[in-house]
Amino acid sequence: MARSAVGHHRSHWLKEVLPDEEDCPALVGAERADVAIIGGGFVGLWTALRIKERDPACDVVVLERDICGGGASGRNGGFVLSWWPKLASLVRLCGRNDAIALARASEAVIDELGRYLDDHSIDGGFHRGGWLWTATSAAQMGAWEPVMQLCEQFGVQPFVRLSPEEVASRTGSPRHLAGVFEPAAATVQPAAVVRGLRRVAIERGVRIFERTQVRRLPRRRPTVLLTAGGRVRADKVVIATNAWAANLVELHSSMVVISSDIVVTAPIPERLKEIGWRGGEGITDSQIMVDYYRTTRDGRVAFGKGGWGIAIAGRVPASFDQHPGRARLVAGDFRRYYPALADVPIVGDWSGPIDRTPDSLPILGHLGGREHLIYGVGWSGNGVGPSVLAGKILSALALGTDDEWSSLPLVDRPRKRFPPEPVRFLGAHVVRQAIVSKERAENAGRRPFWAAEQLSKLAPAGIEDKK
Ligand SMILES: Cc1cc2nc3c(=O)[nH]c(=O)nc-3n(C[C@H](O)[C@H](O)[C@H](O)COP(=O)(O)OP(=O)(O)OC[C@H]3O[C@@H](n4cnc5c(N)ncnc54)[C@H](O)[C@@H]3O)c2cc1C
Repeated sequence: MARSAVGHHRSHWLKEVLPDEEDCPALVGAERADVAIIGGGFVGLWTALRIKERDPACDVVVLERDICGGGASGRNGGFVLSWWPKLASLVRLCGRNDAIALARASEAVIDELGRYLDDHSIDGGFHRGGWLWTATSAAQMGAWEPVMQLCEQFGVQPFVRLSPEEVASRTGSPRHLAGVFEPAAATVQPAAVVRGLRRVAIERGVRIFERTQVRRLPRRRPTVLLTAGGRVRADKVVIATNAWAANLVELHSSMVVISSDIVVTAPIPERLKEIGWRGGEGITDSQIMVDYYRTTRDGRVAFGKGGWGIAIAGRVPASFDQHPGRARLVAGDFRRYYPALADVPIVGDWSGPIDRTPDSLPILGHLGGREHLIYGVGWSGNGVGPSVLAGKILSALALGTDDEWSSLPLVDRPRKRFPPEPVRFLGAHVVRQAIVSKERAENAGRRPFWAAEQLSKLAPAGIEDKK
């Protein structure tokens, strides 16, 4: 059997780990399963693994249109973040106590991820360097204050306030004017993690079919999923297709699909030491179109930005695999933030889709209220850590277990909706242009146009509830 070819469009992370093991076969003919999971990313694989832990006899099939990790899970920035920066949104969803419990759970799974990788010999590059949430313009100063104040009001302290000097020295660039630090956060080599989970899933008896796209999802029970070469009759189905789920009529109005683009430099471990970025911290600025950057274990910088691309009608276009124009814009931000690294070559770039919900918290539950069709999508750019929670929640739902996970307030929650197409696509472009205009002005120390400022307020929340 073939091993996965390392296509040009693959992320730097996937190129590092592929080819690893033989590809799983594509589905041919008729199969049956207790649970069929659509999507072989973090969410699908964690769900498969947790089902097998709870009920080893359960026959679980994973159907993946590409290879496991070919989606966002093998392409992301590798930040493992909690939901503490989403505390205000969580309070709006479920009140103070449940919000704190959910944020605590999202922090606890960061540790759990590290332990799981160790216990299962997955060399996922887990590094607890923490997260620096920073300001890179005067307009961004104090973006974290509403979250900090809520934490202080609730008597929780996930963040540490740093002096401006410390922020500048730890990030290795004076462009960082202020910030706070979350020590619990980590980074991983995401493709190594997702491919490791795939390996463990296969060892546990999960049957994986790669290069197997589900073309039809009939809603009746038992469901017969149709692919190009065969079909799977399943008692329960878990939809773990991230941004690709935006084409489902039940979920379409709750997700906007945007791109996130990353560039990676050549290894420069000595230069990183010289500028002072030594702790392996993950860093973000406080723009609406957020810049996120981190170092790698071989001393590169991976620098990404969300929001340049907007998908029409929720269909993920080929340009969300790789886009030279957007990569140049991201590289421009890297050069602006790190002028001391102006000569460092950029050696790779790639892109991927983000499944953004109106409040940037995920949506999980029963598709159209059907007990046998379960979904978990809408990670909104923070899915590496939360997908560990997803595995617990979705496995409980798939097995019909009534427990602390199936009863979380995230499950079958009331959902806000985006406007219908074409208003949504056109509106998203207008808002994106307003954000670009506003943030360019702010970065240049100018006052943005009033209209740009007002329209920017219509953007969905990001990975933080910022000012
Ligand atoms: C560039 C980028 C940077 C990011 N950075 C971060 C970060 O630093 N930290 C963080 O926490 N999150 C980040 N994210 C988000 C994070 O990657 C996702 O939230 C997470 O990977 C979601 O996992 P998933 O399993 O839902 O999605 P995916 O990994 O995308 O898995 C879904 C899978 O479903 C498959 N699929 C789709 N349709 C079908 C079908 N019809 N049949 C069969 N299979 C199908 C796809 O091929 C895909 O492999 C980033 C995302 C991107 C794109």
